[in-house]
This record gives sequence, C-alpha cells and structure tokens, in this order.
Amino acid sequence: MHTVRIQAAAIVARRDQVFQPGQVVIHGGQIVEVTSRLDQRPDVDLGEQVILPGLVNPHTHLEFCQLSQPFPSGSNFPQWISSVVNYRRQRDSGKELEQIREDLRCSIEAGLAESRDFGVATLCDIATMPWSLECLPDFDRSMRSMDSPDASAWDRSRVLQHRFPTVVAALEQIGLDENRGAQSDAWRREIEQQYQTGQASTSDRRLLEIALSPHAPYSTAWSFFTAVVQIAKSSDRLLVTHLAESQDELQWLRDGTGAFRDVFERLGIRASEIQRPTVTEVIEQLAGAPRSLLVHGNYLTDQEIQIVAKHRDRMRVAYCPRTHSHFGHEEYPLEKLRRAGIDVVLGTDSRASNPDLNLWQEARHALSLHKSLSPWDALETITLGASQSLGLHHRYGAIAPGFDAVLCVATAPKKKLISTELIEFLFENNHRLIPLWQERLLHDKGASR
Ligand SMILES: [Zn+2]
Repeated sequence: MHTVRIQAAAIVARRDQVFQPGQVVIHGGQIVEVTSRLDQRPDVDLGEQVILPGLVNPHTHLEFCQLSQPFPSGSNFPQWISSVVNYRRQRDSGKELEQIREDLRCSIEAGLAESRDFGVATLCDIATMPWSLECLPDFDRSMRSMDSPDASAWDRSRVLQHRFPTVVAALEQIGLDENRGAQSDAWRREIEQQYQTGQASTSDRRLLEIALSPHAPYSTAWSFFTAVVQIAKSSDRLLVTHLAESQDELQWLRDGTGAFRDVFERLGIRASEIQRPTVTEVIEQLAGAPRSLLVHGNYLTDQEIQIVAKHRDRMRVAYCPRTHSHFGHEEYPLEKLRRAGIDVVLGTDSRASNPDLNLWQEARHALSLHKSLSPWDALETITLGASQSLGLHHRYGAIAPGFDAVLCVATAPKKKLISTELIEFLFENNHRLIPLWQERLLHDKGASR
C-alpha cells in the first residue's frame, strides 16, 4: 500500500482544530496522520488551499436526480406530493420491473456523481420501491485502469476517493391500506435478504447500512409504522421519518380535515377509518429506535421540542434549509431546537424541492437565515454532527487517523486568519467545496501523475 502526504495552507480537521499550514497523510484510503509539522516533503503541495473533511448529507432522495428543476410548491403540501406521485407514475408507466430499476439506477448514479462533485463523502438516501441493491452503481469503472500496481501513489489515492460517496439506504415503508403496506413490507424483506446473503458484497461496496424509513404519519398506516419501529429496534438500525413538515399535515393529524383529507377522499381512501397519531406519539415511537432521524420538524411546538430533547442522545433532527424556503414555510425553529440541546443537522432533501444537491450551499443558506448559527456550528451540521446522526462518526465528518480519506478543498484567504475567521471566510467566499481528487485542480497545481 502506498502513502500520500498532502500539504496545504490550512487543514480544518474538526471543530476548533485547524492546522495552518498542515499536512495530512493518507494510506490505503484512510487518514493516518494530520499534523502541523512540515519537516517531511509532501507528495502534493496544494499551496493556498484549505483542506476540509468530506461532507455528510443525512437526507436526500436520489431517485429524483433526473429532474431539471424542482416541482412548484403548490398551494398546499398534498399538491406538491401529487406532482411527485404523477412524475413517478409517468416515469414508470408501461415499463417492466427491470427497466424501472435501470431508470432508478441512472438517477441514483447521477445523484451520487453530483454529490461527489459537491464534496459529499457519504449520504443517507431514502430508497423507494422497487429500488434494489443493483440500483447502486459500482465505483467509476474508468478509474480501474489507475488501480494497478504500477500506478502512482497519487493515482491510487484518487481511485479510492472515487468510490465515494458511500450510502446508507433507508428503505421507505409506506402505505395507508393493508395491500400497499404488505407490498412495502415484502419489498423490504426481499432487499434485506439480498443484502444478508452478500449479493452486494463487492470489494468496493458502496452500501454502508440498510436503515428503515416509515415515510410519514400521513402516508404510513399507524399499525404499520409502529411495526417498522419494532424492526429497527430489534435489528439495531437507524430510523428516518418525515414529521411536522407542513401545516396541512398537522391539521390532518389533529382534526382529520384539510387538504390531506381531500386527497384521500379523491383517491377513494376512507379518511374516517385512518388512525391518526399525534406528533408526540410519533416522536415517542421514534425514541424507541436505537437511532432516529426526525426529518424537517418545521412545525414542532415548544412542548414537542422538549420531548425530542429528552431523547436527544439517540434522536436528531434534519433540517433542509433550501427546501424549507422553497415551500415558504414559517421560520424554522432552529434556535429553539438548539437551545433544547438537540443536534440539528442539514440535508439537501431531493431535487423535487431543491435545485441541486450542493450541501455546502445548505449551510450557507442556513447561515444567512439564522443569525445565532456560527460558522463553526454550520460546518458541524454538515460534517461530524451529520455523521453522528447516521452513526458514522468514527469514519466520516472529520480529518483524523482512522477516518476515510475523503477530503475537500476550498480557496484559502490571502493572509492567515484565526480559525473562527477562517471558517467564516470559507463560507463567504466559496460557493461549493471541490473534492480533492478533482483533476483540474491537481493539474493546476502541477501534481505529478
Ligand atoms: Zn425527504
């Protein structure tokens, strides 16, 4: 195995730990050392660049990555959901299962490539039926030629970087009626069996974990929802749920009326027969899982926030700032959540509500909206905080020995700044992070091949 030593004007290793300048040493795809000592000659000197850890996107839906623009938010939330459902229907109509899966694979491949170009090291994707393990592409085959014994150490490191982002696939469990619920359940079993029997185990496996995602309390029958929580519990897995996303959802859960009811009636679902949990009941269910991610929580009340806070060691909240703005929701309760000690992490959500998967841009957007959020806080929500929400904080979100060597670079300031000001500068002056391996950058820097 080869070792690569990279030097840069600054290395942001983790919160409050910046090496200016510094060196990071990679061996076999892992970080072995990060240091401010410069006595060893680097293999690559990036000069006036800052190295940061690869980002962690805790919430997205890669199946929508073929969309050129998000769907309009509509006059109510169910209207937007209808656009999503219609899109899926048109995409899949008249196609055999294999073709649908191939289309999904293309979309996921596009989403992974896009994420990688925005510096994402790992992400949690909500996988929807009929997603299967074959929908996750292998790492770029064109890179294989570089993975030969006579390739340079640098090329081999690039190959390793190209395997990212890795994926946590959260299987969406959805269905208000028994029939649809049973389909969801059968599909989950099929995927889990495929996973356990090792059909996914190639040396360059992307898939880190199969998580579970009962979609939302308005789309997953309550008895089914609680059954999925039990599975997460007994199999020690992450649980991901959309909750308190829109006023329409709250009205439905509270009174059984509003735009959701209208949609159900139109679909021929007897709204009066649907069991509606309270938001508190959903939170308490989530708390039963070893780890859970409450997605959105846009309209959590003070009381509900206190209940989430009681379980904050195992429950985190994913906020998707640009999606939030897309829908024109009321101000996000970020300060309240954070004051209650809850870790809020940032996700991109999908391209059905966001123009792209630029996670860095989510942090910049959050910084522009929330004055109480410091640049360090913002960085934490897309790095180590986010990896913690997925249970991956031993591997992603920081530059430290033992972590996967997925690194990003950004333009450094002209003069040396104290670390807090450096992070502020990075957010103000960089619209995106660039993955370290990106060829253009390396050629610019004259890195040897
Ligand atoms: Zn979502």
